[in-house]
Amino acid sequence: MRAMVLERQRQPLGLAELPDPRPGAGQVLLVVSACGVCRTDLHIADGELTEPRLPLAMGHQIVGTVAEAGEGAERFAEGQRVGVPWLGWTCGECRYCTSGRENLCDRARFTGYDLDGGYAELAVADERYCFPIPESYPDEQAAPLLCAGLIGYRALRLVGDAERIGFYGFGASAHILCQVAAHQGRRVFAFTRAGDEEGQAFARELGAEWAGASDEAPPEPLDGAIVFAPVGALMTTALQASAKGARVVSAGIHMSDIPSFPYEQLWGERSLASVANLTRRDGEEFMALASQIPIRTEVELYPLEEANEALDSIRSGRLHGAAVLQIDVSGRGRPREVDAECERRGRPRR
Ligand SMILES: [Zn+2]
Ligand SMILES: [Zn+2]
Repeated sequence: MRAMVLERQRQPLGLAELPDPRPGAGQVLLVVSACGVCRTDLHIADGELTEPRLPLAMGHQIVGTVAEAGEGAERFAEGQRVGVPWLGWTCGECRYCTSGRENLCDRARFTGYDLDGGYAELAVADERYCFPIPESYPDEQAAPLLCAGLIGYRALRLVGDAERIGFYGFGASAHILCQVAAHQGRRVFAFTRAGDEEGQAFARELGAEWAGASDEAPPEPLDGAIVFAPVGALMTTALQASAKGARVVSAGIHMSDIPSFPYEQLWGERSLASVANLTRRDGEEFMALASQIPIRTEVELYPLEEANEALDSIRSGRLHGAAVLQIDVSGRGRPREVDAECERRGRPRR
């Protein structure tokens, strides 16, 4: 199979021809059709996350069809479309796993970090951590739901029932969450880099009541905020824009240092928090919500070989919406027809 591989951090990915992976016990082999590109991938490539498996195929927003099931894997039929998220495996035994917090598992393995991901024509995944994809979404539109949507959704839940919610950094995740929050009847205030008028117009189009620069004060204080941009100073900016009782949640895996600030800005039961990873329950809830709303994902497509360009589009902040690798699997020679079993399970046609 072909894959875009990270050999060493702080170096561009290179196209490689690798042996086809084989599904182990409990795993499925997927023919990858789309893989979302996440800011986390940028943190891995750029060395801010320090312990990836190397060489590595990144990518943790995988949409593919099941080509083969490993020993004992029975959850999905051959030909069924599934999604693979960041959480790739947990121990099931630690104090986090046994208390409904598998997102914090001490021994968790993550897709496209500890495990090879979807910047490739084929991928293997533990079937227990895969999700069926809502039928109404084409592959490319579904890919950003798997992290930008899903982990964003966990952050939104952590903010509580805030009515006036601020989004700092309006990229892949915020553009999905804006639609979810508007659907829930919340009032969204979107903050972008100063001068990014296109981004502000985009936010208003997706349901934000107000959009402005991150150093501007919103027209009303916020009841909660999510900071999507990896900029620690935005945590205190959001705190200053917040009403009493507000919670400010960082949704990213990496952030620059948070500057010190006077206690009175935290006083009044305001809080700062972070969101880490996802649980399978988050995924199931979010996918159900995504088929209800429905969410319109704005994607910019790149062929597999242009994964470096896709990463650059996020690095530069140029992209509004999500970057997705579209993987041409026509040459894989795998049967694509839906067998009787899939038909029975109602697998979406492609
Ligand atoms: Zn665990
Ligand atoms: Zn991600």
